[in-house]
Amino acid sequence: MADNQSVLSVSIVTPDGQVYEGKSDLLVVKTTIGELGIMYNHVPLIASLEVDETRVKLGENEDKIAVNGGFLEFSDNVATIVADSAERQDDIDVNRAESARERAKATIEKAQAAHDADSLARAEVALRRAINRINVAKH
Ligand code: ATP
Repeated sequence: MADNQSVLSVSIVTPDGQVYEGKSDLLVVKTTIGELGIMYNHVPLIASLEVDETRVKLGENEDKIAVNGGFLEFSDNVATIVADSAERQDDIDVNRAESARERAKATIEKAQAAHDADSLARAEVALRRAINRINVAKH
């Protein structure tokens, strides 16, 4: 495990408040241009995030968080993720996410039949959120 001198602080915030706070020797996020691993003393950056899993590793431990879009800011060994919604693995209600997934699939079918591009786009994002939650919960 890394010593205390070489860890990052990780914070994940949403409009509901702080979802996660912890220390890490390797933070792995999925940005819109690909997967990114951040270690101590990484250069400062700002990146847009996909609807995907964020992994906060510290030694043998790994916390998994479903982050549903947003952005990451990293500087001075502090990583802050601001997301519309995010859930820690243990807080995910899988039944709810499975219902949301089925609802989104049904909406996508209807929207495609009705050529309703706005509904289609919204439902596709809802589907991605639901699948992300299911994947993180079952990881
Ligand atoms: P649903 O249709 O089930 O409400 P959603 O994708 O529309 O899903 P959001 O609008 O993204 O939900 O989130 C609303 C709030 O509910 C947020 O605080 C989010 O973290 C929480 N949330 C959504 N789905 C789940 C879930 N499956 N387990 C735990 N918390 C969830």
